[in-house]
Parts: sequence; C-alpha cells; structure tokens
Amino acid sequence: MDKGVIMRENFIPKAWYDLRADLNIQLEPLVFERDNSSIYTDELLKGSDHAYVKIPEPVLELYAEYRPTPLRRAYSFEKSINSYCKIYYKYEGDNPVGSHKINTAIPQAYFAQKNGFNSMTTATGAGQWGSAIAFASHKFCLKSTIFFVNISLKQKPYRKVLMEMLGAQVISSPSTVTSIGKLNSTDPKKKNGNMGLATSEAVEYAITQKATFGETSHAYGVILHQTVIGLESIKQMEMFDDFPDIVIGCVGGGTNFGGISIPFLKYKIAEKHNIRFIAVEPKANSTLLHGDYKYDYADSGKLTPMIKMYTLGHTHTPDPIHAGGLRYHGFDPLLSKLYHDGHIEAQAYDQREIFAAGISFYKSEGIVPAPESSHAIRSTIEEAQKKDNKNKSILFCLSGHGYFDLSGYDFYMKNLHYDKN
Ligand SMILES: *Cc1c(COP(=O)(O)O)cnc(C)c1O
Repeated sequence: MDKGVIMRENFIPKAWYDLRADLNIQLEPLVFERDNSSIYTDELLKGSDHAYVKIPEPVLELYAEYRPTPLRRAYSFEKSINSYCKIYYKYEGDNPVGSHKINTAIPQAYFAQKNGFNSMTTATGAGQWGSAIAFASHKFCLKSTIFFVNISLKQKPYRKVLMEMLGAQVISSPSTVTSIGKLNSTDPKKKNGNMGLATSEAVEYAITQKATFGETSHAYGVILHQTVIGLESIKQMEMFDDFPDIVIGCVGGGTNFGGISIPFLKYKIAEKHNIRFIAVEPKANSTLLHGDYKYDYADSGKLTPMIKMYTLGHTHTPDPIHAGGLRYHGFDPLLSKLYHDGHIEAQAYDQREIFAAGISFYKSEGIVPAPESSHAIRSTIEEAQKKDNKNKSILFCLSGHGYFDLSGYDFYMKNLHYDKN
C-alpha cells in the first residue's frame, strides 16, 4: 500500500513542543559578556514555560505552503542494501529553500517584524541557512544581509543566485565591510572563511545596522521550532501502524536531529521506551565525539553570549568538506545536555562513506540527498545491516536535497575511487 503518507493541512501541528519545559530540564543560562541582547528577539532567546507553545497564525499560514512534509517508507532502498529493518525517512527538502532550516527562519522573521526590526542579518556555511533567511525575510518584508563563508560560496555559487533572487544582499566572508572581517581578510590562512568568523561578521553588522540576527542553532527557539518535524512524524508513523526503534539525524548545530528526535525523546526519557537516538557527524568535525562540554562562544570573534554546550572551541577551523552545514564548532545546548546524560549516541563518517551512501539512496529512492543528510543515510545503512537489529524500524531525517551539491558528488566520483556498481 502507501508508498508515502502526506497528511492534510489540518494535520500540521498547531503548537511546537518544548521538552525542556515539559520535563523540567534545567539548562545552564546564557552568559552575556557584552550587552548584545538587542539583536535577538525575546521569543527566540527564552522559549517558554509551557510544554506546548502555540504557533502564531502568520507562521502557520506559511507552514501550510509546504507542510506537512512527506514521511515515506524506503522500500526500494531497503532492498538495495539488504536491510534487516524497515526504513522510514522524513523528507524536509521539498520546500522553497530545500532544507529544514525554513522551519525556524519563518518564525524568526515573523518575530523580528513583530518586534519592530526592518532587517535581518546572518551567516551561512553551506548556503541553506542564508537561503532560508532570505526567503523568510522576503515573506515578512524585511531586508536581509547574508555573510556567506567564502569556500562554500565558491563550491555553491547558485545558492548565492537563489538568495539574490529573493532580494538578499550576499557578502563573501571574510569581508571588508566589518572590522572583524577586515582583521581576517588579509590572512591567507583565513581566506576560506569559516562559520565562526562569518557569525562574528553578521553579529557585528547586526549591531551596527540595528538589525536582528538570524540564529541557526543554540538560541532556544530554534530547536523548538524544528519540533514540527518530529510531531508530524509521530502521527505519520501511526498511519503506518509503526513506531521507530532507532531515530537518526545528521548534526551540525543539531537542529534537524533535534527537530525529529525531541518529540520521541519524551517517550524514552519520561516513559522509558527503548528507543535509540543517533546523531551523525563528519569525521572532520566531530563535536560530540571529540569536543568538550563547557561554556564557549558561538563565534570566533566572541561577540555572541557564552553557552554551555559541546564544542571543539570557537577558534576551531575544520577542513573544507562538502557537507558545509556540518562544519560548525558547537552544538545545541539542550541536545548537548541530553547527550551528556546518555540519551543520545554519536557516530562519525568520512566524506567518501557519505557520498557513497548518498548515491545509493539516489539510485533507489530518486532524491539526491544533501551531503549533510547523507551522513544520516550512512548511519542508517550501518544499523539496517546489523543482524541484531532484525525487524526493527528506523526513522531518519532527510534534512535537505543536494541539487546544489552536484559538484561535491562529481568530485567524489572523479577523485575518491568511486565504484560504479
Ligand atoms: C544546515 C543543515 C544541516 C545541519 O544543521 P543542523 O542544525 O544540525 O540541522 C543538516 N542538513 C542540511 C540539509 C542543512 O542544510
């Protein structure tokens, strides 16, 4: 029967789910060393005290343009990898910007407009976040300025075109329009740029231009907004008369993984269901496996508040891998705590492994996954081929499509001993 379940509009969640409030999980507070709080909206920083947070009507209207997103069983992929498990994926790439990031960009732009801001600025690694902010800013009549990490901009020039089509101003980072950018733009070792530096530039620019800063992760609201992914998944799995034993997502800042996992984590933590949660990182940037749990800045210029999180250090510059969205040094604070407390596992793979997984998914399911999402696919293959997991159900988040990443796939096929069978 159903190769895919797409639910009707009235199945879109009307509220986001706040695990922290529901289970009274205590997080260490943000520490502001300078008063930069003016660039954040309260809604984004503080979250709420309620388990369910009503989604504002203008946000719901925009969600309804592309949600609910499909949750499909990957029959053909299961066959192609000789899976012992049922495999389901929640596809967040079928929307105007091509990834889950739109789920939080929309409410962030809405709250910015509501709080009287005229413009948004942000930093983007792989370009998906910049596209999401450009799109959401356009919908709420805000100006947007995007600092795009130089190396990624070179790898994905068409992401810039997409942002400019939406009216955004796109600036390559390190740039000469901010003082922190100028300090770094002449150093040849820094010319590739990185997310920490681009974030500093965007924060500085937000302060001087009285704009609001679009947060990709670590502000509490971001992970809250992404819970629409998991809330829909619970209902969609019910329609398959199934429930996941293993939930898998790739992690940069942790938001798509958190989005799909958090509503299910309640079952594990509060109701002791036996569910495994696997966060998948690139070997080149393994924040969970190799980082420390401590207070750190979200940017290399130390302009953001300090956050208790898993971090590789705010000066860490990872190799320029193709999964640019996973090159961030830090990790969401709520998920950091849950990882620290043993509710979440972590795995890491290298680029060769993830591109092979992405291509095998494309061949069977017909969607080119973002290199970021291919990390989740690689882990899914590993779990699905374990005899011990026989008859289990795996749910993974396909966080975005990879149609702007074909040069990465091309590089893999030409240079990394691609086996065409
Ligand atoms: C940005 C991005 C990621 C990583 O960010 P998270 O906050 O960890 O979700 C993963 N997949 C895609 C497609 C992305 O655009």
